[in-house]
Amino acid sequence: MKIIDGWLDIAERAETENHGGKLLEHRWIRLHDTTGFVGPSIAHLQKPETRASYHLIIGRDGKVYQMVSLALVSWDAGIGEREFQDLQYPNNRGFGIAFENLGEVYVNDEGWHIAEKPWFGATVISLENIDWKSKRAWHSYTKEQLVVGSAIIRLLATEYGISELWRHADINPNKSDTNPTFPVDVMRGIL
Ligand SMILES: [Zn+2]
Repeated sequence: MKIIDGWLDIAERAETENHGGKLLEHRWIRLHDTTGFVGPSIAHLQKPETRASYHLIIGRDGKVYQMVSLALVSWDAGIGEREFQDLQYPNNRGFGIAFENLGEVYVNDEGWHIAEKPWFGATVISLENIDWKSKRAWHSYTKEQLVVGSAIIRLLATEYGISELWRHADINPNKSDTNPTFPVDVMRGIL
């Protein structure tokens, strides 16, 4: 795996116009969940009115999609997230990577269902770790996407000198991604 002119060679291109200018620095990686399946999530992020994007999305099968050149700013930390670690504009200071993961899901009698949002694309999934009392669960990550994710984090750390890894929930306490089942300490150990 290598980066050629800002594009990861193994990634399928899924370009969007939702991005800013050149990155200011290569300080950190911001980690997210798509909260939807990868196809509908990409379609949603390619609409100009969405005004959001990730550099990379890692599918549940380990397939990687790239939406924005690694030379440019992706819009994954929100409009309200203008400051982090005493620095302005967290989007300008590194890369945004999303894992295909539905986040928090809810159960009914037929199986697991997720809350209605237009970009989810599907409503029923199967899950482990069902908490029948609360009727909620966190969607687990697949081994395939965690293996690819760790390889990408290692590559970005080597190529760009990335030294920090943050979940979106670290940047904004109102967010819950990546979800609590994500092995963030293992991923931080790569840096
Ligand atoms: Zn997020």
